[in-house]
Amino acid sequence: MNSVVLTRRFYFCAAHYYRVKEWSEEKNREVFGIHSNPSGHGHNFVLDVSVKGEIDPITGMIVNLTDLKRIITPIVERFDHTFLNKDLSYFENMQPTVENLAKLFWDLIEEKLPDGVFLQRIKLKATDKVFAEYYGDNWGIFCKKYRFSAGHRLFSQKLSNGKNREIYGKCNNFHGHGHNYYLTVCYKGDVDEKTGMTIPLSELDRRVKSFLKTLSGKRLDKDIEFFKDKPATSENLISFIREELNKLLGGNVFKLKLTETRNNFFEYLEE
Ligand SMILES: [Zn+2]
Ligand SMILES: [Zn+2]
Repeated sequence: MNSVVLTRRFYFCAAHYYRVKEWSEEKNREVFGIHSNPSGHGHNFVLDVSVKGEIDPITGMIVNLTDLKRIITPIVERFDHTFLNKDLSYFENMQPTVENLAKLFWDLIEEKLPDGVFLQRIKLKATDKVFAEYYGDNWGIFCKKYRFSAGHRLFSQKLSNGKNREIYGKCNNFHGHGHNYYLTVCYKGDVDEKTGMTIPLSELDRRVKSFLKTLSGKRLDKDIEFFKDKPATSENLISFIREELNKLLGGNVFKLKLTETRNNFFEYLEE
């Protein structure tokens, strides 16, 4: 199969809550936080359906986007303007978390696809910061975007001052400069049957935020040991973050995205 992947985006709006019936109000609050509000809350969900397959030599297409839209729209419409927990039987015994929704969309769409067209990925965004990905295996992938600010100066001890200026340009400024970095952390794990989550959101927040505190408000090249003998580039920074977060998250970091400025971002993908 060729390695071209095609993505079509869909939108729906829905309400939901996360609650385990047999748990007390306190326990639901403790595990799900504000997501347990019994009246519910809502999102403008964004669903990206990615497919792969052979390119037809006559049409030049993997699948006609019009056909893909015709197949998927009725599925998405079942969810649009509903209260997921109350209106859809899928969620009688399943939390409508982004992890569970992504897998459900995979299952519902996969069986309707024409011969020779295969799902590659389902990505479901609940907010700009929170989304899930599903690749058709046994794992759930939960992603959240965080922010931190830090300063740095790009400088290599292995190069002369002249060469440093030539290679790093403005980024070599003697007194340094800073960025508002955005870091998206994708955590891969088993989806818990009761909570519908790969990791409780509060747990991910606690661990990632405690780590980001060690970078936030710092001069990376001066204050962080890791950069004592390495330039504080984003390539090295994302490698450092991967190492440290894997320690805090039991080796379950699936993907990281580090945005340095509006013009550039760096990604780490699990091999
Ligand atoms: Zn929600
Ligand atoms: Zn910079």
